Amino acid sequence: MNCEILNVGTELLLGDILNTNAQFLSQELAKLGIGVQYVNTVGDNKDRLKRSITNALEHSDMVITTGGLGPTADDITKEVCSEVFGLELELHQESLENMKAYFNRFNHPMPLTNEKQAYIPKGAIVFKNKFGTAPGCVIEKDKKLIIMLPGPPRELVPMFNDHVNPFLQKFSNSIIVSHRVRTFGIGESALAEKVSNLLDNSNPTVAPYAKDGEALLRVTAKAETKEEAEKMITPIIDNLYSQFGSLIYGVDYENIEQKLVELLAQKNMTISIAESCTGGYTSKRITDISGASGVFECGIISYSNRIKNQVLNVSEDTLKKYSAISGPVAVEMAKGALNLSGASIAIGITGIAGPNSDETGSPVGLSFIALTDGKSAWVKKLEIGRNGQRDYNRYVTGSHAFNMARMYLEGQIDELGLERIDF
Ligand code: AMP
Ligand code: MG
Repeated sequence: MNCEILNVGTELLLGDILNTNAQFLSQELAKLGIGVQYVNTVGDNKDRLKRSITNALEHSDMVITTGGLGPTADDITKEVCSEVFGLELELHQESLENMKAYFNRFNHPMPLTNEKQAYIPKGAIVFKNKFGTAPGCVIEKDKKLIIMLPGPPRELVPMFNDHVNPFLQKFSNSIIVSHRVRTFGIGESALAEKVSNLLDNSNPTVAPYAKDGEALLRVTAKAETKEEAEKMITPIIDNLYSQFGSLIYGVDYENIEQKLVELLAQKNMTISIAESCTGGYTSKRITDISGASGVFECGIISYSNRIKNQVLNVSEDTLKKYSAISGPVAVEMAKGALNLSGASIAIGITGIAGPNSDETGSPVGLSFIALTDGKSAWVKKLEIGRNGQRDYNRYVTGSHAFNMARMYLEGQIDELGLERIDF
């Protein structure tokens, strides 16, 4: 079974809305072993929509549309799909009742225009919408399927998980399992070079790619059952661990802060962060992780030298002698955060995110990161040097700080070869 995803909506073509439905559906269909051959986007235009659907049906067994199921005149997906298959629309009483109940929950009478959404192609299987008014549906003709799903992701995702996924399982005789081996401290090309012997594998496949200043390897296997696929993947991941050791921080983590929060919780330890150029971004990333409250003591954004001195106790001498963007200042910031908060470890970050340099002329993307446990401090000088990429510089700086903390908690920080100061 193969498939085309057809995302409907002029707002997508204008770039107003990011097409997250395509990403979500592509990922889910891959897991089901259904090959997505094309992803297409079309505006709310009857002729072009009709042409897109007809085209898609010529080369794919199944078309999944998203969007255009709303109550307004520009929502025409159901109408056009029905026309292509030569089906009438008829009132689906259950959907009408669901819709009325949906409005009742918010104490609103149902506007008449919404009734249009309860008209479904004759003979369709209907998917209930728990979080909105437009039901989804599937129609079939000559062994070709069209599945129509609502546009809003908060409606589409649960509808897919609850109804469409179980419906599609019967068309899939294999499943695809994929794991992401996440590394830190090695570039994508270096990583690819080191695993070049694996890159030609056809099942499981191993593919490197870069993401947010990190490189990762996606290991994917296709098999009849999940268990079988996992069995094919395990030895590959074991091998990667013996080859890369602590460069790998985990498998299937969303990001390195997730790993850090997990490690801190396991070890019953806490962290504090004093940051300057990252402006709170590093603390924000920690608090994005559920469970952060158990491990995160505080984040201090000490942007000015005065606050570095008055709040964190960074000495005026150090600031004068080395300038604010220096290893000694990062160390004193980390110490200040540790003393203020009583956390087990603390991070200090100071640098220039850009796009402009400061009065001392330090290069954009230069930063110093310090980690301390109160007994020692480790300092990293980081030169990202991406001019004009303020957010990227700030993100990657934070990631390095998290990696230092991760390596510390795993008892491997000395492997990073950083400057170490023992107090
Ligand atoms: P519709 O079903 O066409 O009325 O879609 C309503 C809303 O869903 C749009 O205004 C978008 O905010 C959202 N939406 C539609 N298509 C997509 C898509 N492919 N990805 C993400 N959001 C979407
Ligand atoms: Mg629309």
